[in-house]
Amino acid sequence: MTAALLGSKGTSSGGEICGNMTSGGTESILMAVKSSRDYMKDKKGIKRPEMIIPESAHSAYDKAAQYFNIKLRRVPVNKDFQADVKAIRQQINKNTVLIVGSAPGFPHGIIDPIEELGGLAFSYDICLHVDLCLGGFVLPFARMLGYPIPPFDFSVKGVTSISVDVHKYGLAPKGTSVVLYRNHDIRKFCFLCVLAAVTEWSGGLYVSPTIAGSRPGGLIAGAWAALMSLGLEGYLENTKTIMEVSQRIQKGIKEIPELFIIGRPDMTIVAIGSNDLDIFEVNDIMTSKGWHLNALQRPNSIHICVTLQHAQVFEDYLRDLRESVRTVKENPGPISGGLAPIYGAAGKIPDRGMVGELLDVLVDFGLWRCVEVLLVKYAISLPWCSLLMMKYPILGALYDTLLSLGRLSNHSCMKKLWLAGRGSSAGTRYDSQLMCSHGRG
Ligand SMILES: *Cc1c(COP(=O)(O)O)cnc(C)c1O
Repeated sequence: MTAALLGSKGTSSGGEICGNMTSGGTESILMAVKSSRDYMKDKKGIKRPEMIIPESAHSAYDKAAQYFNIKLRRVPVNKDFQADVKAIRQQINKNTVLIVGSAPGFPHGIIDPIEELGGLAFSYDICLHVDLCLGGFVLPFARMLGYPIPPFDFSVKGVTSISVDVHKYGLAPKGTSVVLYRNHDIRKFCFLCVLAAVTEWSGGLYVSPTIAGSRPGGLIAGAWAALMSLGLEGYLENTKTIMEVSQRIQKGIKEIPELFIIGRPDMTIVAIGSNDLDIFEVNDIMTSKGWHLNALQRPNSIHICVTLQHAQVFEDYLRDLRESVRTVKENPGPISGGLAPIYGAAGKIPDRGMVGELLDVLVDFGLWRCVEVLLVKYAISLPWCSLLMMKYPILGALYDTLLSLGRLSNHSCMKKLWLAGRGSSAGTRYDSQLMCSHGRG
């Protein structure tokens, strides 16, 4: 069903689209990258694989690069916040196995020029993965509803794999995603048996299409139930609603002179920046009003991902946004208790290695060890901790404690960070905040 939505029925697809379910977008991306790497090794003998991604591509590619020992080349987006095809072409070399486009990208909700990327992949005879994790269950319906959606699926020559999250706009239970391949030739490299035939195990012959071994059949049934119960009509109706709400929200934002929308959102993710005020201060006030928006970097901005829940409340959202902007404007200087100063500083700090190290320590040992690392190793005060707490609201209690101790306003040691300049590391350059996680997704 998912393949049929994404061009498998069209003659240009080659009629061989196939795939399987995974536990989420990240695992779908991991499988697509792994299959592409091994397919290219088989086809072209590439032994030192490299892949090229736009800066807006999901952090799952960083994981894939680490897991599968692939050199990752990250390329800035163009002025429209799309993948910069020219810049990507310049990075292609004899070791390139894969390039990537998103439709749309998570940070700004903008569709990359998939046709141009397809042309590039085709002419260099390399793989192109299209990340439809967010768009897969919206774009096909938006197109049927008449929205001008550029080509994004297997109808585009050169697209070799696609990831689609059923657990996002497909409205299936969390833990369900689909990875699709252009043909069986590519898909066969997702199976363990191709490179490491498990025929000698005393447990018997073994082959498996994903990273996980045992998997929950209940989730797959849940995804099937979501597709069947909503059906084409249900998805069309939902898409109509959220696309309309997205347009109303965009119109409302355009009426606030202090704010601007980042690029031209193609779908239901709208990122907002400001040249006049600190957008993270606006976010602080929105948070106090009960809105939890994602904070982004490069440039500093926040985004809203429109869902059916917003259909009833988007006017409240716009009203609160207007009020928040007014409050920030009328109260110059930092907002007491807010996180904006920390967020603003985090985006500017060149020492991405330290940010990465902190994220690692957080996952490994918890927050208190982060505090220790900051205090002892870097000899800085506590504002950094609150940065991590932004990302992990569950740690908010600790933040409150630090706040009550009056220690979060001390920025005197930030200068050390600027001076340190220890080079950049993966995971801290992703447009959408800082990212770290315990599992694969
Ligand atoms: C959510 C998302 C992913 C990763 O999906 P998980 O389900 O969180 O693992 C990848 N790419 C895009 C564009 C996404 O929105």
